[in-house]
Amino acid sequence: MRTRFAPSPTGPLHLGHAFSALTASQLAVTQGGEFLLRIEDIDQSRARAHWEDCIYDDLHWLGLDWPSPVLRQSSRADVYAAALDRLWEEGLLYACSCSRRDIKDAASAPQEGVEPHIGPDGIVYPGTCRGKPRSKMRPTGTALRLDLNKAMSRLPEQIEWRELGVSAGQKSMDIKSALRTIGDAVLARPDMGAAYHLAVVIDDADQGITVVVRGEDLQPATPIHRILQILLGLPEPEYHHHRLIRDEAGKRLAKRDDARAIRKFREEGFSPSDIARMVGLSL
Ligand code: GLU
Repeated sequence: MRTRFAPSPTGPLHLGHAFSALTASQLAVTQGGEFLLRIEDIDQSRARAHWEDCIYDDLHWLGLDWPSPVLRQSSRADVYAAALDRLWEEGLLYACSCSRRDIKDAASAPQEGVEPHIGPDGIVYPGTCRGKPRSKMRPTGTALRLDLNKAMSRLPEQIEWRELGVSAGQKSMDIKSALRTIGDAVLARPDMGAAYHLAVVIDDADQGITVVVRGEDLQPATPIHRILQILLGLPEPEYHHHRLIRDEAGKRLAKRDDARAIRKFREEGFSPSDIARMVGLSL
């Protein structure tokens, strides 16, 4: 068993991160497995070295440890590019130049009263750029989307995965409902090469992750990850989505919730056990 905690260094770690990291590392300990850390700094416009240092510092303070070297997404552009080249050559990607505004306008154009579906990444892409002429070489500096309709012939009718966390059990999604409710996911962004969905499945596979531990807000993205694993011939991990830590108003914590930053609690004299207790765990 091998699991990981994969934060993005875009702000201070808060109680929700502490819960995620402790959940993953405690699972590894109870199962005699291994806990890895991965720095998801693919979005270089938001990642900061300072926040990365804070991640190491806060996690060590919580008593966590992990093998070195830590995998950092910013050093993996070549690996992601190779996967994109492969999918491009297989005709499964297309370039998309739509802005958020374009997508909103196209999706809300009168369509026999059909409401646009909101998928894991927002409005399901209406397919505006899908039929545009393709170049032989994969274009760069543009968004690339997975042509799910084309990929269908390579996919089983049911996309399946095993959930070990919140509402555990064998899960599945009909590929036809994936077309309707997920659509053509963005796999490369113009500003940062690979997008999250592509990077995460490649990294989990390369790190030999067998149990993906993360917040339940990412559960809707899991069918996309399973689809990519099948198309790229990657192993299938199990998933452990955990509950989210929320504030008094029931809102999930975000990076800007500095008041609940681990370092704030540290400065105020709280101990690692106090943090664990606050999120419903014990050390
Ligand atoms: N980097 C993501 C985050 O900070 C986590 C992605 C994942 O665990 O799959 O929310």
